[in-house]
Amino acid sequence: MEAKTEAAPETDGPRSVSAEETERWMEEAVRMAKDALENTEVPVGCLMVYNNEVVGKGRNEVNQTKNATRHAEMVAIDQVLDWCRQHGKSAGEVLERTVLYVTVEPCIMCAAALRLMKIPLVVYGCQNERFGGCGSVLNIASADLPNTGKPFQCLPGYRAEEAVEMLKTFYKQENPNAPKSKVRKKECQKS
Ligand SMILES: [Zn+2]
Repeated sequence: MEAKTEAAPETDGPRSVSAEETERWMEEAVRMAKDALENTEVPVGCLMVYNNEVVGKGRNEVNQTKNATRHAEMVAIDQVLDWCRQHGKSAGEVLERTVLYVTVEPCIMCAAALRLMKIPLVVYGCQNERFGGCGSVLNIASADLPNTGKPFQCLPGYRAEEAVEMLKTFYKQENPNAPKSKVRKKECQKS
């Protein structure tokens, strides 16, 4: 059956995504977020899908790398650029047809990076109330920023409850890097 009963949204760039695709890719993104949580990282996982193929994926690795910019999306973007080099494809052409699936609303930094990469569509889980760049704190995704890439479309709310639960679990734990400073100061004073 080739007949198209439901027309895709009438936009030229962003592709529409089917429920099956969303379920399949978000399942993997959730699995990666769990892996982040198990490794005391902010539980965010994501996949970049181009032509039904995963061309990049990432989970937050800020603590592991001690680099505050290594959010899941930034890790995934680097992988997509590697994939393009390896396959002799133009990054521009690939990225403008790539869909990002991510468990949490991209933060302000990542939303700006996604604009600059001209990713057309982001499917995400829960909101990012602390740093969200797709509406929660700022709306970088659809803001009128003529010198910062292109706006992108968002499909929020997919498996949001699970994603929120993981974030809550994470923020209940201690951050292995930062918040021990008080304890450390005391220890220093003692010695
Ligand atoms: Zn981010």
